[in-house]
Amino acid sequence: MPDKFQNFINGKWVDAKSGRTFENRNPAHWDEVIGVFPKSAKEDVDEAVKAARSAYEKWRLVPAPARGDIMRKIGDLLVKNKEELAHEMTREMGKVLEETRGDVQEGIDTAYYAATEGRRLFGHTVPSELPNKFAMAIRVPVGVAAIITPWNFPMAIPTWGIFPAVLSGNTVVFKPASDTPKTATTLIRIMMEAGIPEGVVNLVHGGGGEVGNAIVVHPDVDLILFTGSTDVGKQISRQASATLKRVSLELGGKNAQIVMDDADLDLALDGVLWGAFGTTGQRCTATSRLILHDKIYDAFMAMLVDRTKKLRLGDGLLPTTDVGPCINEAQRNVVQSYIEIGKKEWARLVYGGNIAVQGDLAKGWFHEPTIFDNVKPNMRIAQEEIFGPVLSVIRMASLEEAINIINGTIYGLSSSIYTRDVNKAFVAIRDIKAGITYINVPTIGAEAHLPFGGVKQTGNGHREGGWAVYDFFTEWKAVYVDYSGKLQRAQIDNY
Ligand code: NAD
Repeated sequence: MPDKFQNFINGKWVDAKSGRTFENRNPAHWDEVIGVFPKSAKEDVDEAVKAARSAYEKWRLVPAPARGDIMRKIGDLLVKNKEELAHEMTREMGKVLEETRGDVQEGIDTAYYAATEGRRLFGHTVPSELPNKFAMAIRVPVGVAAIITPWNFPMAIPTWGIFPAVLSGNTVVFKPASDTPKTATTLIRIMMEAGIPEGVVNLVHGGGGEVGNAIVVHPDVDLILFTGSTDVGKQISRQASATLKRVSLELGGKNAQIVMDDADLDLALDGVLWGAFGTTGQRCTATSRLILHDKIYDAFMAMLVDRTKKLRLGDGLLPTTDVGPCINEAQRNVVQSYIEIGKKEWARLVYGGNIAVQGDLAKGWFHEPTIFDNVKPNMRIAQEEIFGPVLSVIRMASLEEAINIINGTIYGLSSSIYTRDVNKAFVAIRDIKAGITYINVPTIGAEAHLPFGGVKQTGNGHREGGWAVYDFFTEWKAVYVDYSGKLQRAQIDNY
């Protein structure tokens, strides 16, 4: 019998009120059931929001440094359980162990950052325009925060939302992706062990259409931090506007790596292999376009295909595996559909292109790493997020052309340029329209203490990570203290 898991509402583990459940399976061995989880609905969301609202009135009064102490304990527990967690996550969502270790580490970094933020949460004191009057602006919590997350970073992304939300004094309703409910459950257990009080963090499992939607339209949810696809993000934005919720959207990308003719080609090659095929291409920051300078195009393509051929597909728990499976059958079918689209657009399939079915691979959702070249910037495979191990290679003859190509999609998350010319690097930093620009680094590899997010249809202007996310989870309150003992009228009595 597979293990059975529950929601966590008001400090108690509970089934969905309807009693319905869903199964979660290992994408590398789809006959292996990871567990059975509650298929929740609106009535479960209502309970979770009620619990979060009632806990908020106490939690907001706990001093931020004390909230930070709990964050430090969470970080310590994540360190203690890192290896076990990484194994569990690889089994649940497929990426290779060293990547799931990195995913946990990002949670650890975020916990320790939040711990120290408890002693900062800086406000401003400014002079008043009137005598004997004091003026300051302080950060206050907002209320009940919903955290809705995707499956590709099942630890890091929930922690980016939940830890700063809670540190800031908000309470949380957390809806994880239904492909990674087990990691979410373990995260909640760790938070409870560290001393998070009842009702402060609530977990509701289930599908986006049902649970996610019930959260988004709930009148008593104040904030939504959503990380996921652009289509769902747009829908959430529309629906949340009915109750004027504050919404942070971190959405899709069509990230590119530029390689100039003066680049260190070996370094650029390591970068693009890691950026395009790490996490099986299923990162919001994955390199899905490679923009190659004409002068090094043929040489670089030969190196790229040669190294891609050596990548080994398999179960991420095996030390021999470089590339794991796609998350599920539907996603693998999306990847396959883009292979057909690329062929119809007359891009040249230079490597891969198939579902992988050799030996044990037949029991998982594996797809070969795939490279198209002769790709034109306006083709669908160069414009649309595929979210799989597919790289589209585009030729260019100048930095200006490369930057036009990189900017020519609806997205603007991550970007990268390989060059030895510092002048070109700074032009790229200035002119690329993206939330992140890497110089001689692939498009992946964000650090937890810097702002993370994108421009254009990658988001709505908020940032996760570092100090920036605290702007989302707090409101500014302006405070004036007049100690003159008389009525002083701003803009009037002093002019
Ligand atoms: P998704 O949009 O399908 O789902 C994300 C989450 O939203 C899940 O928990 C899902 O159940 C929920 N959801 C789905 N429909 C909903 C609805 N109508 N209302 C409320 N919630 C709903 O995305 P996914 O397939 O889980 O993840 C892949 C996508 O996430 C890619 O587009 C990727 O680029 C993006 N992503 C972005 C970032 C970033 O920080 N920019 C990070 C990781 C992933």
